[in-house]
Amino acid sequence: DFGLIADLIAIHAQQGPERPALADATQTLSYGALDALMDRIAASLQRDGLAPGDAIAICAASSVDYAAVFLGALRAGVAVAPLAPGSTQASLARMIEDAGARILFVDQAAAEVIGPAAPDAIPRLALDGSAAGGDFEAWLAPAGVRPAAVELQRSSPFNIIYSSGTTGEPKGIVQGHGMRWAHVQRGARYEYRPETVTLLSTPLYSNTTLVVFFPTLAFGGCVLLMPKFDAAAYLKLAESRRVTHTMLVPVQYQRLMARPDFGAHDLTSFQYKFSTSAPFNAALKADVLQRWPGGLIEFYGMTEGGGTCILEAHLHPDKLHTVGQPAEGSDIRLIDEEGREVARGEAGEVVGHSAGMMVGYHRQPAKTREAEWFDPSGKRFIRTGDVGRFDDDGFLTLFDRKKDMIISGGFNIYPSDLETVVRAHPSVADVAVVGVPSEQWGETPVAFVVRRAGDDTAAETILQWTNEQLGKTQRLARLQFIDELPRSAIGKVLKRELRELVAR
Ligand code: ATP
Ligand code: MG
Repeated sequence: DFGLIADLIAIHAQQGPERPALADATQTLSYGALDALMDRIAASLQRDGLAPGDAIAICAASSVDYAAVFLGALRAGVAVAPLAPGSTQASLARMIEDAGARILFVDQAAAEVIGPAAPDAIPRLALDGSAAGGDFEAWLAPAGVRPAAVELQRSSPFNIIYSSGTTGEPKGIVQGHGMRWAHVQRGARYEYRPETVTLLSTPLYSNTTLVVFFPTLAFGGCVLLMPKFDAAAYLKLAESRRVTHTMLVPVQYQRLMARPDFGAHDLTSFQYKFSTSAPFNAALKADVLQRWPGGLIEFYGMTEGGGTCILEAHLHPDKLHTVGQPAEGSDIRLIDEEGREVARGEAGEVVGHSAGMMVGYHRQPAKTREAEWFDPSGKRFIRTGDVGRFDDDGFLTLFDRKKDMIISGGFNIYPSDLETVVRAHPSVADVAVVGVPSEQWGETPVAFVVRRAGDDTAAETILQWTNEQLGKTQRLARLQFIDELPRSAIGKVLKRELRELVAR
């Protein structure tokens, strides 16, 4: 029960060549046209000497051509390293090197960031018709060519994704064809079909986007790409294109739900909305369930794979404070500092096993070993660095990343517990709590708060209100206002940046 996504696209092209597969603001590609373009891309890569085991890198804003290059490379069995154009020059240079990219696909903006940092020996091709690289159209083998067939296994590299770098330098995660196939199999549950219209406004270099992108195409649906998220434009497009599926990160749900005109849009075409990658607070989930038609599905997992928890929020309205239950085929356990499984009902580090696990970190065997945990029978799990606890019904509540936990006067404080309390204050629009060094306690919690628009309540007032509800060992040392929480491009709060703010 293992197949290739590129082969499924060929089947859809035969069965419905005119059906739309990919669209952005400037072009739409039918399945017939996509399949033909994938052939040309695969043949061009083969002509240039690339074969399974080789990699290309793409660093550009999402577009139809970006997606086609990704899919065409898969047809040639060439792994894709999709890179975040918002990274620093040094980081991009390191990733291009690390991935062993043989060709670099760019657009103007990305090429400017990369500048001279990537070696000249790696040819660049411009996806946007700019002078940022060689001409993509001219590079393409003539229409009608057929690439040579390739032999691929589950563990053959599909893509090398660099982790978000939320906690440090991004790590190259090698995902195999088998891992992506596991996502496709899960897709049947969410009713992807040829009539599906999936709107994606998160970037194509993130696994967050890809877990919905590939299943949509594998089932013959259409993907609409929005290269830059804009709440007003998102709602207009969703309504006019009768969108059925989408992936949004929590901060995007927050922006959409906050729009006064949200209710004026007809969103009845939606069947499933997905979320992942950052904590999604229960009140916001409840609001989405109430005002936005269709199911709401939250995934908890990591790019490394190793298990997913799924909350089908519309089916479990009493479990919105959790990230759901282990997905079929996922084995999720909790371990303590010594690497032993914790007793039922206790908190521990989440480790997971599934069919869709990374092959390993690219060129970092030591880091790979550090990330692994084996149960007494020798079964391989991946450590998440997240702390969680199962309730009696088997739903996982997530606290924080271990690195964000605060140890104050010998007590463990979960920032997420404090954030929940602060968030309940009527003046608070958003909050993040971090630990800062304290001579007396080792570490002490500080809250960064974004006030609701027009609110002028004093920080001291919210601080007192919060501390009255907290136990003595949990109390906030300080609460300070901030215009916006620092977030990564995919919407994760960057707690290390907040800690630096305090240090300064
Ligand atoms: P890095 O490993 O480089 O620090 P990262 O861990 O943020 O980056 P990803 O693989 O994109 O990179 O993210 C996985 C992490 O995102 C998880 O370990 C977890 O902390 C967080 N996460 C994912 N889904 C959820 C969710 N539904 N709720 C809360 N947190 C989530
Ligand atoms: Mg991680």
